[in-house]
Amino acid sequence: MNACIVCIGNELLSGYTADTNSRWLCEQLLGIGIPVKGVWLVPDDHQRIVQSLKQAEQHGQIILVTGGMGPTDDDITRPAVADFLNVPLEFKQELLDQFHTFFARMGRPMAEKNRVQAWIPKGCEILENPRGTAAGFWRQTQDLRVAVLPGVPAEMMYMFETQVLPRIQTSQADSIVQNAKVRCFGLGESDLAQRLGNLMQRGRNPLINTTCGAGEVILHISAMARDQADAAALIEKDKVLLRELLGDYIYGYEEETLASVVGGLLRQRRKKIAVAESCTGGLLCKMLTDCPGSSDYLLCGWITYSNSSKIVQLGVPEQTLSEYGAVSEQTARAMALGAAQKSGANVVLGVTGIAGPGGATDQKPVGLVYISVFYDGRCSVHEYRFPVANRTGIRQRAALTALNLARMQLRI
Ligand code: AMP
Ligand code: MG
Repeated sequence: MNACIVCIGNELLSGYTADTNSRWLCEQLLGIGIPVKGVWLVPDDHQRIVQSLKQAEQHGQIILVTGGMGPTDDDITRPAVADFLNVPLEFKQELLDQFHTFFARMGRPMAEKNRVQAWIPKGCEILENPRGTAAGFWRQTQDLRVAVLPGVPAEMMYMFETQVLPRIQTSQADSIVQNAKVRCFGLGESDLAQRLGNLMQRGRNPLINTTCGAGEVILHISAMARDQADAAALIEKDKVLLRELLGDYIYGYEEETLASVVGGLLRQRRKKIAVAESCTGGLLCKMLTDCPGSSDYLLCGWITYSNSSKIVQLGVPEQTLSEYGAVSEQTARAMALGAAQKSGANVVLGVTGIAGPGGATDQKPVGLVYISVFYDGRCSVHEYRFPVANRTGIRQRAALTALNLARMQLRI
């Protein structure tokens, strides 16, 4: 079984809104072993919508449609899909009743405009949207399954997971696919592939694919089997192999992050962390505080961007700065030691570097970053020359590398 996706909305073609819906849906569908054969981005234009649906029908037995489901005049997905299905729109009193309840809960009267959202193509099942008034609908025939969902990503995702996915899964009961993610840091994609040898061979079951970014490589394991237990066993076997081949490069699984793994280790070891940042401008602290419960182990962070703040806030000696510069091993060390002294933390990460595009010299190129790690009284400094072209990439890479250094320390 194959799928096609049609995303509707003028905003997707004007560049105002990036189409994240199809990306997410592709991932979900592939996750259950259904390849996506095409994605159409179309404006709020009746003829274009109908044409795209007709094309999509040529390539897949499942069509997922998002967008154009609002109450305003530009949202015309409902009549266009009805036209494609060759049925009239039908008024659903139950939907209108739900809208009234929805607005009553918010203490507002329903706008007359919302009425139009109670009209859906005849013969379709309603897909409930408890988060808004844009209900979706589902139509299944012998050869084709069509799901139409609102464009708002949170509503679309919720409705896909709770109502579309179960409907798709019952129609392909013969085999199931289970997925897992193994997350690595500090090893390039090609080095990693080298270590994996024939584990990444096409046609193998489980299939292993990689995606990478900011120093991180994610291994996506996809196992096909008769039932969940068999698939889980296949995945477990691969995880054991991967641990043997990659060792400490593996930092986590599924949705874990370097920050959440470091947080877990800090909690486990009853250690407290503080950070002293320059070029990352608070990103490191942001990553740490993205984890719920991080107040258990994070004491504080400094963003000492200027020389004077490094001196005043962290006690970096003026002479260190004038002699070696703000981006130097010596300054990185002084930042961590100063932050350790002021905060009393057992673990401190310090980051100073050149994120670019300006500020480089012959000796100090863009991408040069020093990361200091203070750990129980000892301080080490690591120099990096990140081969990344842009400011965001360098900062991301620096913050993640700092977390990875903390992870390596805490593991021992
Ligand atoms: P609509 O169903 O057309 O009322 O969509 C409402 C909102 O959802 C739009 O204004 C966009 O912000 C968002 N949206 C629509 N389609 C997409 C898409 N393919 N990816 C991400 N956001 C979308
Ligand atoms: Mg729209």
